[in-house]
Amino acid sequence: MTDSRPIVGVLGIQGDIEKHFAALERLGARGRRVLSPRDLENLHALILPGGESTTISKGLVRHELVKPIQQYALAGGAILGTCAGAILLSRVSSNHPVPTLGLIDIESERNAYGTQLDSFVAYSDADVDSDDRWSGLECVFIRAPRLSKPGPDVEVLVRVEGEPVLVRQGRRFACTFHPELTDDLRLHEALLDDSPARRSDLRGRDRLLDRWPGGFGPSRPRGR
Ligand code: GLN
Repeated sequence: MTDSRPIVGVLGIQGDIEKHFAALERLGARGRRVLSPRDLENLHALILPGGESTTISKGLVRHELVKPIQQYALAGGAILGTCAGAILLSRVSSNHPVPTLGLIDIESERNAYGTQLDSFVAYSDADVDSDDRWSGLECVFIRAPRLSKPGPDVEVLVRVEGEPVLVRQGRRFACTFHPELTDDLRLHEALLDDSPARRSDLRGRDRLLDRWPGGFGPSRPRGR
């Protein structure tokens, strides 16, 4: 029998990969470790996990994944970046900046809450979303970045103490916490939610990469 479950890629360079696989299994999806451009084929969605953005960023170049991931996203592919993954999706990062993919029009500040010792758990602020979709979301922050200056196409879905911690631009999500470390699967579920309306939302909003400094750029040859 063929396996008809949706396949979700998890960037497999470094970071919290297995826990995302476990969350996806619980939702009836199948995880695939992404380590080469071919691994992006036929994905239902892609996750850039938390970890160390410096290491992951270098690995993206080494595995020749920068441009293929940008193309995957610009073709309408769904992406979730968690913590270090959110940094990589942002238009530019600060505080020991790393080159970013520039796929969400927002700035990220690395380690904005301090060191590993300053990791904490908090719940989503009430009143951010009108339909209560994200109320009571448990957010685990581990050396989390801070997101700021969202562009006009970016929706802030969740805030904690007033700060944006989950944002969305079309089918791309970035969160500064670790949804794979709790039993609350709402965010993985939202990623899997394949609404064609959302895909068409994105059209015309994607000529972003050329405008943003500090990133890998759209096609600059790298490495080697
Ligand atoms: N502090 C890490 C970085 O800047 C991110 C931490 C995480 O992903 N939990 O890359």
